Amino acid sequence: MDIFNYKGICLREDKRAVYLDPSQGRPDGAVTHAHSDHLRPNTHMTRPTADVMKVRTGATKATVHDFHDPFKINDFELEFISAGHVVGSAMIECQGVLYTGDYNPYGTVTAGIAKPRDCDTLIVESTYGKPNQILPDRTDVLSDLQAWISAISSKGNGIIGAYSLGKAQEVIATANKAGVTPAVSEEVASVSDIYKKYDVPLEYIRYNKLNDAEKKNPGLLVTSTTSASGKKPDSVVKSLREKGAKVARVSGWCAFAKWALKGVDAGFPISDHADFSSTMKFIEECNPKQVYTVHGSTKELAKEVEKQLGIKAQPLPKYGEVALETFN
Ligand SMILES: [Zn+2]
Repeated sequence: MDIFNYKGICLREDKRAVYLDPSQGRPDGAVTHAHSDHLRPNTHMTRPTADVMKVRTGATKATVHDFHDPFKINDFELEFISAGHVVGSAMIECQGVLYTGDYNPYGTVTAGIAKPRDCDTLIVESTYGKPNQILPDRTDVLSDLQAWISAISSKGNGIIGAYSLGKAQEVIATANKAGVTPAVSEEVASVSDIYKKYDVPLEYIRYNKLNDAEKKNPGLLVTSTTSASGKKPDSVVKSLREKGAKVARVSGWCAFAKWALKGVDAGFPISDHADFSSTMKFIEECNPKQVYTVHGSTKELAKEVEKQLGIKAQPLPKYGEVALETFN
């Protein structure tokens, strides 16, 4: 099988091809999850991913599958396996090739866990592919976040900015653990409703449904990163801040990048991606003969995989770099 980057991740054999996370919608494509850099309509996807797509983009065209229910595209046999990244997120297994998509091997409260699986070829994301990109222990940071939520919402108001698909739901679950039912923006609510549909127990209330007094004093508001701490925070965030609300950002980048802590009172480095050391452990446990790296620090990760694990590794080649007499 030839594997290369061409309009997405292309797997090709005997003039047949399948496209993983394709650059545009196509019926011979399969997508891993509903973040906009991966999601395309008119592809194969898991049921929750299709639900999120509908809510966020209005698109409905998709061929849906359950996890662990094998399916075929152009006679390739594929299977969606939990990636632990966001609701419905999947790794894709295809005849000895495992593509992680965005994956989380530590496990989440709300979206499962990515477990390593034996494969011949592993295509792995390298968002945090540099050796110094190591995150603090997730359980410790979640405890810190829970303590911050308890302290802030007992004496005033707190605002947490987090990606509205994935991170926001981890924040809601953490708030619930602290005995707090947060108010949430419409964007966060619409995605969280899908988590609830798939039996993830989350307690929250739409900010827009609060009465006027409650709107001035919501305790905790969970909203998107851009609304909370972007260059132009939305009007709700602005007025709460003027009355003394504290703002926190929840993002893995809080551990690595100064910009992530700009304009906020606290930062909690929780990521739904694997950091460098968990990536290396995951690769070792999948026991592949060949590793291809995609997204982020591809060269750095490939170099370390060869050096530390002795496994053949390189950034996924582009179509033009692969000798393919038959491809057209
Ligand atoms: Zn993602």
